[in-house]
Amino acid sequence: MQISLQQQVALVTGASSGIGAGAAKALAAAGAAVVLNYNSQAAPAEALAAQINAAGGQALAIGGDVSKEADVERLFAQTLDAFGHLDILVANSGLQKDANLVDMTLEDWNTVISVNLTGQFLCARAAVRIFNRQGIREGVSRAAGKIIHMSSVHQLIPWAGHVNYAASKGGVEMLMRTLAQEVSEQRIRINGIAPGAIRTAINRAATEGAAEKELLKLIPYGRVGDVEDVANAVVWLASDASDYVVGSTLFIDGGMSLYPEFRGNG
Ligand code: NAD
Repeated sequence: MQISLQQQVALVTGASSGIGAGAAKALAAAGAAVVLNYNSQAAPAEALAAQINAAGGQALAIGGDVSKEADVERLFAQTLDAFGHLDILVANSGLQKDANLVDMTLEDWNTVISVNLTGQFLCARAAVRIFNRQGIREGVSRAAGKIIHMSSVHQLIPWAGHVNYAASKGGVEMLMRTLAQEVSEQRIRINGIAPGAIRTAINRAATEGAAEKELLKLIPYGRVGDVEDVANAVVWLASDASDYVVGSTLFIDGGMSLYPEFRGNG
């Protein structure tokens, strides 16, 4: 199976680091023109765009806070100005503000819901409006557009001390599935990815040293994930190779969601 995303344009939110940066690189390597959205970190997003362009690809870094409607509208308008159309959205931006519920401020609750859930709503809405206007681009893709919502194993696994994050990802799952039900007949494909523990900035403390040993007890496959594990799946879900996959969440977690605590128990 050979995957080509030639002539397609992909927008990846939160592409200045981690999974977003890896997804942008992989999409570009598959032939897509890529918009790398960043929030505050312009330099790494611009450096990655320059690297993709130097390698013969097409990339552009565009700033914008996904939780702000005006920023999102501008981000998508600038994408169309630069590349003329949009075929793929990877709604990836996310953050954590951890605390036990009794100590959690309303501000930290609102920040996480705004970026992780409302941000995905605003980006999906902007993308679907464009996909509807464009329709199917014959010879480019069988779908009129594809959205990949970056969720987490915590759309399924409750996570004490992270109630805002787990609630946001539970919301992402139903946003994704409901949207898939709503727009599939327009041949827009909506899917999600639920990563387990992937080595990035968001979970550095949990994936290094003694903490990594503890973490590995929760991962039957016996290793922490790499950005490429997720990036390769993003490319597949964005391509016609997965054309009949609609409204699904792909868990990329080394088996973390298999209740590994039950091994030898129960
Ligand atoms: P990361 O911190 O490297 O990436 C998060 C990205 O989101 C950053 O680039 C950040 O700038 C961006 N972002 C934050 N607030 C934003 C805003 N308001 N507007 C636009 N962008 C914003 O961490 P990551 O691990 O690469 O996380 C990417 C996604 O994967 C997140 O949605 C996260 O919840 C999810 N995820 C990660 C893991 C993991 O183990 N790393 C596991 C499950 C889910």
